[in-house]
Amino acid sequence: MARVGNSIIKGIEVSEVINKLNRAYADEWLAYYQYFIESKVIKGLMKDAVMGELVLHAADELRHATMIADRIIQLGGTPLLHPSDWLVQTHCGYDAPNDFDVVAILKDAIKGEQCAISTYSDIVDMTRNKDIVTYDMVSQILADEVEHEEDLQSLHDDITEFINDIKKNLR
Ligand code: FE
Ligand code: FE
Ligand code: MG
Repeated sequence: MARVGNSIIKGIEVSEVINKLNRAYADEWLAYYQYFIESKVIKGLMKDAVMGELVLHAADELRHATMIADRIIQLGGTPLLHPSDWLVQTHCGYDAPNDFDVVAILKDAIKGEQCAISTYSDIVDMTRNKDIVTYDMVSQILADEVEHEEDLQSLHDDITEFINDIKKNLR
């Protein structure tokens, strides 16, 4: 059992937790930027509703990056110091938007959230009963990512349904 600052870590290497958190930290910055830039370039039908959601999600991802950086420091680690490290350490990667249409952007963002959900599910499993502070934090983040994915999916479904209705009426 290792005592790290105020937290007790049982049966896992602290360095392993720090490494996983740094990868998630890279993902959060990239997710933040992806939402930020998507909210700027987005085009098409119902783009204003989607833009608002992207801006909210960007703020959440930045908040997640803050939570993770604080936890890495509590554990005695150092959060990634250079933005070039983000692309090296990322688990979910970065998909620069190449199609600015609302539906394409929603699809990219949904894919990103699905990856985030799998990343945090892994860290939840790794830390359960072992590093309770990290476990609680990643559980909260996981709940946010699930909500993000659901919000985007319902916008995607509403918009594609709306587009199909318009097409039907044009026939
Ligand atoms: Fe996030
Ligand atoms: Fe998210
Ligand atoms: Mg939302």
